[in-house]
Amino acid sequence: MGNDNFMEEMYLAAVRQLRTIVFELNYETGQKYCSPLFLESFGVESISNEDFTLDEATAGIVYEEDVELYRTLFASRSGERTVTCRFVTKNGTINWYKVTLQYDQKEDGEIARVIGTMKDVSDEIRSSAALRYHRDFDTLTGAPNFQQFNEEVSRTLEWDNGHHHAMIVLDIEEFKVINDLFGMRVGDLVLIHLADCLKELVVRPNVFCRMHSDVFCICITYETKGDIIRFIEKLKKRIEVNEFDFEIKTSYGVYLPDDSNLLEVNLMCDRASLAKKSIKDNAMQFCAFYDEEYRNEILKNNRIEAEMQQALREKQFVMYLQPKFNLENGEIVGAEVLARWKHPEKGMIQPNDFIPLFERNGFIMKLDEYMWEEACKAIQSWRKAGRRQFPVSVNVSRYHIYNRHIENILENLLKKYDLTPGALSLEITETMFFDNSNELYFLLNRLRDMGFRLEVDDFGSGYSSLNMLRNVPVDVIKIDKGFLDDTLNSEKGKVVIRHTIAMAKELQLQIIAEGVETTEHVDFLKGSHCDVAQGFYFARPMPLEEFNKLNF
Ligand code: C2E
Ligand code: CA
Ligand code: CA
Repeated sequence: MGNDNFMEEMYLAAVRQLRTIVFELNYETGQKYCSPLFLESFGVESISNEDFTLDEATAGIVYEEDVELYRTLFASRSGERTVTCRFVTKNGTINWYKVTLQYDQKEDGEIARVIGTMKDVSDEIRSSAALRYHRDFDTLTGAPNFQQFNEEVSRTLEWDNGHHHAMIVLDIEEFKVINDLFGMRVGDLVLIHLADCLKELVVRPNVFCRMHSDVFCICITYETKGDIIRFIEKLKKRIEVNEFDFEIKTSYGVYLPDDSNLLEVNLMCDRASLAKKSIKDNAMQFCAFYDEEYRNEILKNNRIEAEMQQALREKQFVMYLQPKFNLENGEIVGAEVLARWKHPEKGMIQPNDFIPLFERNGFIMKLDEYMWEEACKAIQSWRKAGRRQFPVSVNVSRYHIYNRHIENILENLLKKYDLTPGALSLEITETMFFDNSNELYFLLNRLRDMGFRLEVDDFGSGYSSLNMLRNVPVDVIKIDKGFLDDTLNSEKGKVVIRHTIAMAKELQLQIIAEGVETTEHVDFLKGSHCDVAQGFYFARPMPLEEFNKLNF
């Protein structure tokens, strides 16, 4: 073996071991070389046009987004250049390669040859990205991260029995809005400001960390609850002193660990967060303490949410009907559809235990639709049986203001059960008239144009006035049961309710009194010329089979 050959063999072996692709083009001899690893990696012989810039056949090897970058290798056609860019391998994976190109020039400046190497650096790139992530996480705010906090707090809670500790979670109200309006950079500055305030006010042995995004967690020692509140107030005020053009409002949740039953730090933070969530219902408040009752309620709601879809599929929701009576002749002139949940384990659940939750999570739309259909079925069955017809009232949740399909849904139901719109009466609760007035009026007008009878439910429970009703396209007002109770207790109240009825009549509105429980109620309503009444005095809500036995 000649020396040249020996050197060449050794060189190739070394290159193979280094897993580096080598290519070379000698302009003087026209010789071209590319190591077999290229073929192995990419399934083609080489980047094959005459000077290793891309050609059509091989352009796809360089990852599309990095083609520009790759081309910079050839920009000056002199000296040595390196880029690290992505290539698409034979089996479709995208790997990072460090590509170096070196141009050798002759004395006259002509290019003698070009030598290149390509080395797969994917592993290094990926692990350094991971490192960078961890470092960045802390470099943004300079706050300790959760891991550090976790270790420190666990240690403190275990050893320091002499103090009470409080776990506080805080975040910025509407942080997302700040990011959206002013940009991520400003959002970052806000977080840095927050961390700076914490660094200033959280001093050892107290510790804090940035949990994630805008959520920070603090562990402080305290003697009385007042200490905690004073600390939070001080921190909140400090955060509000800043150079931003907008307010930075923070809210806080506090969990007080039970020394005899220490939870993991992350669970304690969860509980503090849970406490913070309970504030959302109360705009005036910025701080809340964790309480077991609230947690149980959340857990209960979570369970209900997990069950509700299945309950609908399995027809666990049942229609109850409560008749409405003409006060003068005692005839049934209507019925209200009320939902009940016949739970396989918990038995009958009343609407107050699930409707408010369904209104919050949107499921009420499905339940209402289901109840409307049950109502239509019942009406159809009565008609087929030749029974006397009256409008059946269904409840329409406030959520439907935003339901674009409500008209379609109702129309389809009428078609499916061959009914006219007069068969259904829609009960819309009074409180709906306060918010969303425009949307609501549009909706009510459309529904009334379709021919539905509209009832204002719970009239008198809020602040509605008859004056307001002049502008609203409704047919019936249902006087809330609370209104009835209150007014009956005083002579003045009686006057108010009598006039309400009289004025409603002048506005051509029908009046229904609900929650009628006693003979006293009935006598008073009769004397006030109220048309219709609904209540336990006459009948409780009942399942369809029972309702069918009534006289109509
Ligand atoms: P609501 O629409 O005001 O319904 C009348 C409520 O008063 C019913 O409670 C009924 O059982 C009760 N009630 C009737 N007569 C009397 C009485 O003489 N005294 C007393 N104290 N109460 C009486 P229920 O069935 O528990 O329903 C509670 C609420 O849940 C309903 O109030 C309604 O807002 C909502 N709801 C029930 N079913 C549905 C539904 O299918 N969809 C929607 N969106 N809401 C529903
Ligand atoms: Ca109702
Ligand atoms: Ca009502």
